[in-house]
Amino acid sequence: MFKGQSGKPKFKSRKRSKPAVYSRYDRFKANGCRVYLEKIGWVQTSESLPEADKYSNPRVSFDGKYWYVSVGMEQKTEKPELTREVIGIDVGVTQLAVCSNGMVFKNINQSADARKVEKRLRRLQRKVSRKYEMNKEGNRFVKTRNIVKVEKSIRLLHRKLTNIRTNHIHQATSAIAKTKPSAVVMEELNVSGMMKNRHLSKAIAGQKLYEFVRQMKYKCEKIGARFIQADKWFPSSKLCSCCGKIKQDLKLSDRTYECDCGFKMDRDMNAAINLSKLAK
Ligand SMILES: [Zn+2]
Repeated sequence: MFKGQSGKPKFKSRKRSKPAVYSRYDRFKANGCRVYLEKIGWVQTSESLPEADKYSNPRVSFDGKYWYVSVGMEQKTEKPELTREVIGIDVGVTQLAVCSNGMVFKNINQSADARKVEKRLRRLQRKVSRKYEMNKEGNRFVKTRNIVKVEKSIRLLHRKLTNIRTNHIHQATSAIAKTKPSAVVMEELNVSGMMKNRHLSKAIAGQKLYEFVRQMKYKCEKIGARFIQADKWFPSSKLCSCCGKIKQDLKLSDRTYECDCGFKMDRDMNAAINLSKLAK
């Protein structure tokens, strides 16, 4: 930093950041279900690393429950033969994604599993808050061993919820990439704008829409498909996918799109079809 080669170091709090360390790549070795990390030595892993000539950028991280080692490796893949289909994807809150080819992916936060975890989380948060109140010394909050215990299980539940959400997005984006489209069109998201609506903000945050776009982008790249992002102001929902007229008075509560020309369709499906037309 003093030589002017890099910027200022960032403060890393033990409370906020995910513990992760870099391990020297030239000292890294892998052998079956064991990996060699510098200064630590051989460590048992539950999965064996795939064979590769060279591993790069090994990192060790902790997600609150398990320790992970992740490495980069080069692999030759053959790009598959693509179909001529163009898929438009409309992402949202009622459904995670609606594709113009008829594929629909549900909102995982409305599933029984996710709701159960959320409910349990709410209970524990109430519990820990009660404990803080109970053990207050004057104006000061005291952390007792029981509070530490409950906070640990809260952290594990947050981890579980993130895993449920990320897994669902991975499955959805992989299923779309598996149809081998020649192009995928998505809308440029305005998540920070949508978050301002406080009735919707929690639902939007739980959908991890940026993560969806990120995964879709790299999975398209992997199969060699084009990934197109429509402009933020493209009226994908307001346009009629049949005659091209723009319906100005479309409300967020209108779930079906109805046009003067007699065209009638599900709102998200109409938007997905409009997006798919942008690639031609
Ligand atoms: Zn129309």
